[in-house]
Amino acid sequence: MNNLVEIDQLVKYFDLGRQQRVHAVDHVSLNIGEREIVGLVGESGSGKSTLGKTLLGLHDKTAGQVTFRGEVMPKAYSAKDFARYSPHMQMIFQDPYSSLNPRMTVGEIIAEGLRLHHKLSNTETQDEVARWLEQVGLHPDHRSRYPHEFSGGQRQRIGIARALILQPEFVVCDEPISALDVSVQAQVINLLGDLKASMGLTLLFIAHDLSMVRYISDRMAVMYLGGLVEIGTADDVFFEPKHPYTQTLIASNPEADPQSERERASTNIQGEIPSPVNVPAGCRFANRCPQAQSECHHITPKLLPIGDGNNPRSVACHLFHPAEA
Ligand code: SF4
Repeated sequence: MNNLVEIDQLVKYFDLGRQQRVHAVDHVSLNIGEREIVGLVGESGSGKSTLGKTLLGLHDKTAGQVTFRGEVMPKAYSAKDFARYSPHMQMIFQDPYSSLNPRMTVGEIIAEGLRLHHKLSNTETQDEVARWLEQVGLHPDHRSRYPHEFSGGQRQRIGIARALILQPEFVVCDEPISALDVSVQAQVINLLGDLKASMGLTLLFIAHDLSMVRYISDRMAVMYLGGLVEIGTADDVFFEPKHPYTQTLIASNPEADPQSERERASTNIQGEIPSPVNVPAGCRFANRCPQAQSECHHITPKLLPIGDGNNPRSVACHLFHPAEA
């Protein structure tokens, strides 16, 4: 599989003044293959959304490089860069209500990208909007309505149509199901899976719900305090997590069965995620890790391969790659 997106040592810091800065994304490297879905998981504040937005140029890069189809993306996007790259790379946002302009009709919202990037007649634009409303399970007549007239799940479908009408190759889905009722989440996941198959999309799928991420993703990447700690096939990471953080994250994933949920409650991750401003030395998980050793507090583990190479897996932990003193 060829890589569509290559992320090399990407860094995004937010300056707070007085020589303080938020280490939101810290030297992240990750390749995403063509037609691959990579799920990105981690607690709130781990830097997942910042990584997604930095990939698409919505945040300037502090350092590092992002390559799309072999072309190096700009460090800071100009209006011209957005016009050039946004037809190829799009984002589906978490909150389907606040991301839709309440004063525009659904037809105007979905057609916005077409009007900016394609010279279609009014009739062609209307036909394309109607086609996309049907693709995402809505009715063409819905184009004259406003976002507030729709349910959360329907609004997310509108957001998906808006993102995909330009037929992008790469889409960052930033928590696209978090704001939806549980009953609607599976419908949206299935819709994304179907569209991925029919359009040959490549997705970075950011979410909290690990079961949903496992269901839709080919590979799963786990992020903690700005860095990746584990990457592998979705099944391997979900069923056989190696990194101590991944293990506690998976163990604390809510269970549908009430009895399992009661048993699970005792496995919640202990302690608070450290501040991304005062990042601890060594392994960033050390203050919460039940297996921490003395070197974990001063030597930073690297994300390195483990196993036999048949099922590529990488882990950043001294348990697998003993630190050189
Ligand atoms: Fe735990 Fe040490 Fe591994 Fe970090 S490097 S996850 S503290 S064992």
